[in-house]
Amino acid sequence: MCALEVSSSEEMTSAKEGRLSAQTMYEKCIALSRNLWWTWQPDVINLFRDLDPIRWRQLDHNPVALLAEMTPERLEARVSELALHSRINQAYRRLKEYLSQRPLWGRTHAGVLGSKPVAYFSLEYGVHESVPIYSGGLGVLSGDHCKSASDLGVPLVAVGLFYDQGYFKQHLTVDGWQEEEYIDVDVTKLPLDLCTDAEGKPIIITLETRSSRLLVKVWQLRVGRVNIYLLDTDVEGNSPEDRELTSRLYGGDNRTRIRQELVAGVGGVRALRALGIKPGVYHLNEGHSAFAVLEVMRERMVDDGLSFEEARREVRQCTVFTTHTPVPAGHDRFDPGLMEEHLGPLRDALGISHETLMSLGRVDPTRMDEPFCMTVLALKVSRKANAVSALHGRVTRQMWANLYSWRAEDEVPIGHITNGVHIPSWLAWQMKILYDRYFPERWYERMGEPEVWQSIYNVDPGELWETHLTLKNQLMAFVRRRLSRQCRRRNEPDEVIEAARSILDPNALTIGFGRRFATYKRATLILRDPDRLARIVNDPERPVQFIFAGKAHPRDIAGKEYIRAIANLRHDPRFNKRIVFIEDYDINVCRHMIQGVDVWLNTPRRPLEASGTSGQKAILNGALHMSVLDGWWAEAYDGSNGFAIGNGSSHKSEENTDARDAESLYQVLENQVIPEFYDQDSDGLPRRWVLRMMNSISSLAWRFSSHRMVADYVRLAYLPAACGTSSEMSR
Ligand SMILES: *Cc1c(COP(=O)(O)O)cnc(C)c1O
Repeated sequence: MCALEVSSSEEMTSAKEGRLSAQTMYEKCIALSRNLWWTWQPDVINLFRDLDPIRWRQLDHNPVALLAEMTPERLEARVSELALHSRINQAYRRLKEYLSQRPLWGRTHAGVLGSKPVAYFSLEYGVHESVPIYSGGLGVLSGDHCKSASDLGVPLVAVGLFYDQGYFKQHLTVDGWQEEEYIDVDVTKLPLDLCTDAEGKPIIITLETRSSRLLVKVWQLRVGRVNIYLLDTDVEGNSPEDRELTSRLYGGDNRTRIRQELVAGVGGVRALRALGIKPGVYHLNEGHSAFAVLEVMRERMVDDGLSFEEARREVRQCTVFTTHTPVPAGHDRFDPGLMEEHLGPLRDALGISHETLMSLGRVDPTRMDEPFCMTVLALKVSRKANAVSALHGRVTRQMWANLYSWRAEDEVPIGHITNGVHIPSWLAWQMKILYDRYFPERWYERMGEPEVWQSIYNVDPGELWETHLTLKNQLMAFVRRRLSRQCRRRNEPDEVIEAARSILDPNALTIGFGRRFATYKRATLILRDPDRLARIVNDPERPVQFIFAGKAHPRDIAGKEYIRAIANLRHDPRFNKRIVFIEDYDINVCRHMIQGVDVWLNTPRRPLEASGTSGQKAILNGALHMSVLDGWWAEAYDGSNGFAIGNGSSHKSEENTDARDAESLYQVLENQVIPEFYDQDSDGLPRRWVLRMMNSISSLAWRFSSHRMVADYVRLAYLPAACGTSSEMSR
C-alpha cells in the first residue's frame, strides 16, 4: 500500500524543546502540502503565501517546492516572526478532522458503494496549477469531480497518467505566434508518493503488447479523501522511447496515443488490483480509457470462470460512460494494425478473434474498413452513457443513433448530467467572506441546495459591488504584471514594458474570454467588424476592454492563427490597447480572470460546446455570463440572469451562422450590456446590473456546482451500476 496518510506528529505539540517544535511545525506544513485539500482552503493558501510571498508566486503556488527550499530552522524563524504557530496547528487539525470524518451525505446516499468504490478513469486531472497534468476543461472537470466526491464522502478512487512534462507552456513571439515549451517537472517537488507493495517495494505493472513489454509504476496523489493513482512508464527496463511514453499530455502520434490509452485503461485496472482495491463501479470519463473494461472482463473470466459473453454482460452492468465532445476529431480511432499490436495479447486472454475485438469499436461490425473507435467501445460496454448538458444529450443521441438502429432516437440509452464546478476552488475568498455574513449558518456544507443561494438578495448591493470591484482591481494588477513580464521576455523596448504597467482602466467595462483556442470556440467572432468593435471599445463615456487568454493545440494551425489575430490587436492603433492577451492560460490565469471580470464571454458555434464550465466559475464571483445558447447556457439562461447571444438556432452554413452570431453579439453589447453597466447612480452603483448579478448567483451557483453534479452521478449512474453487486455487498 501507499505511504501513510499524515505523519502522526501532532502528539508532540507540547514539546518544550525549540528544535522539536521547529520539527513539528515543519512536519505539519509538509503534511498540509502533500494533500491537495489545501488548494480549496483559503486560510491554508494564505498561510503558505505568508511563508514567502515572492517565492510563492515564482514557484507557481507550489508549497512542496517552497518547503523544499526551507530548512526546519528557517521555517521556524519565519513562523516565529509572523506568529504563525496557531494558524499551522489549526490548519493541520482541520486536515486531520477532514480526513477522519465520514460526511453525512456520502453515508446516507452512497453507503452501498462502501468498500467497493467507484473507479474513475480520466486522462487528465486539473486540480491545481502546480500539478500540470491537465490541458483544459476536461481535466479541470475531473479535478472538480474528485474534490466534490471527497467533500461529499462518495467512495471513489481515480486513475490517470503522470506526465512528467505535463502540457506545454505557451509563449508568443512579438508578432503573436504561439510557441510551445515543455519543462521537465521535478517529481520530488510534487505531492506524489510512489506506491509500494506490502514489502515496501515499488509496485510495477506489466503490459504485454505484440512488440514489447511495458513496465509501469504508480504514483499516488491525494485530493482530500480521494486518491488519484497516476501511471508512469518512466521505469528502468523500458526502452528509452517507452520511458517517454507518458511524458506529454496529447503529445505524439496515434501510436503514442493507443499506447498511452493502453497504460491508462488496462494498466489502471491492474494497478487498482495490485493496490488491493476492488471497485464496484467503473466510470469512464471520456472514451480514452475504455480499454479498462476489457481488462475487467479478463479478470472476471479468470476469477469467476465466466465465458467472454458472460463477463461482457456482467461488466457492462457496472460500467458507466461520460462522453464530452460532439466534435468528430475528439474521438480516438485506431486502425486494425495498431489494435492487434497493442491489444493482441489481451484479446488472446479473452479468447476472442481479431474481428470480434474490432467489432466492439465499430458502429457497423460488418464494415471491415471502419477503424476502431474508443467512443463506440465505451458505448457498447457501458450500461448507461451520459452527455454533459441537456442540449449535448440531444446532439449525442442523434450522433450515435445508428448504433441503436432498432430504437427510436429518444430511446437511445444516452442521458445527460450537466457539468458543474467545485465552488470552494473557484469562489474568491473575499466573496466567500461576504456570503458568510449573509448566508445561513453552515451554508458551505449545503452549497448544492437552491434555498441557500436565495440569501444573495439579502446582501447589501453596495457591498456586493464593492467586493466585485476589489476583485476587479486585483485582476488589473495581475494583468499588468503579466503583460510587462511578457514584454520583458520578448525584449521589447522599455517604453512598451513601462506602458504595460498601467494598461487597462479599472473603471471600464471589462470582458474576459479564456479557454482553449479551438476554432469552434470562435475567439475572433468579435473581430468580424473591426470598425464597429473599435467604436465600442473607444466610446469616451462608456469604454469597453477585453482580456483574452488561451492555448491552441500544438498542431492546430488555425487555432494559432486565431491567437495571432487577437494578440496582434495590441499593435493596432484603432483599439488603443484596450484588447490584451495574457500568455499561458492555466488554472491560475483562469482563476484571476473569472474572479475579476464584469462579463465572461463565450462564443462557440452551436451545438459544438458540449457544456463549458468557465462561465460557471465566473458567475459564482458575480461576473455576468454572455454566451451563445450552447452547452450549459442553453439550459441556464432565463432572460434575467445573464445575456444571450443569438436565439438558439443555427444555420446550415457556417458562414451565415457566424455572421448572424456576430451581429447579435454586437447588438447585445451595444443595446443591453453597455447601457446597463453604465447606468450607475450618484454613488457609482449600477443597480440594475447588481440585481442581474444577484439573479445569476441565486439561480445558477448551486445548479452548476460539482456537488450537485456528483450527487447526480451517484443517484443516476453509480447506484444503479452498483446494484449489480449489491446482493454480495449487503451481506
Ligand atoms: C475551467 C477551465 C477550462 C474550461 O473552460 P471552458 O469554458 O469550459 O472551455 C479550461 N482551461 C482551464 C485552465 C480552466 O480552468
